[in-house]
Amino acid sequence: MSLQAQIDAVELRVQEACKRSGRSREDVQIIAVTKYASLDRTKQVLALGCEHIGENRWQDARDKWNKLGSQGTWHFIGHLQSNKVKDVIDKFTYIHSLDRMSLARAIQKKADEWNRIVQCFIQVNVSGEQTKFGLAPNELISFANQISSFSNLRIVGLMTMAPYEADPEEIRAYFRKLRMLKDELNDAKIWPYPIPHLSMGMSNDFEIAIEEGATWIRLGSIFVGKEQEGE
Ligand SMILES: *Cc1c(COP(=O)(O)O)cnc(C)c1O
Repeated sequence: MSLQAQIDAVELRVQEACKRSGRSREDVQIIAVTKYASLDRTKQVLALGCEHIGENRWQDARDKWNKLGSQGTWHFIGHLQSNKVKDVIDKFTYIHSLDRMSLARAIQKKADEWNRIVQCFIQVNVSGEQTKFGLAPNELISFANQISSFSNLRIVGLMTMAPYEADPEEIRAYFRKLRMLKDELNDAKIWPYPIPHLSMGMSNDFEIAIEEGATWIRLGSIFVGKEQEGE
């Protein structure tokens, strides 16, 4: 299937999921996750009008960003080590993986030094899987309170990853839980502005995520493909 056909097929499914759940298509944005894709493929993705690019490791993203960074809006979606903060915060418009105090401190310090505001999603490990990063749900409010005075961080939403092999109803429950956590966070009025976004849903579960309120879905294999350099 051509890249265009692949993108069109996903677009249809996104529209159907929006329709089913009474949501407006404009409320759901797609991040094209290019972590499996070559530089050429990433270039194509941008040329076909995908505005949002997601990468999960700076080492893998560097070459693509150096050549294509002036196009599109870049999202850092992977686990972020504190020593990489200096590499990513001035290049990626959004960080989807704020998951601990030490990282919040590192971002705040660099962002303050560089006089920037960094837009972040707080990552929550809703399923409690050992292999996943993210705060436990019951840590969210106290974490939010602790970082609320970090004036160079702008919290825009919550992010989660569902277990890959779970059945659809279990996945739905995790996404629903993230939405409830966002409501709790907003009710707590920790910041003087609302927290609007939910970053959830990947190739295998994005339709469920849309039905449960996702505003950003992160699509790699199904959208961009898994093609590597030289293939
Ligand atoms: C790789 C990745 C994705 C996309 O994965 P696919 O299943 O290929 O769509 C989404 N989010 C994160 C955090 C990822 O690391």
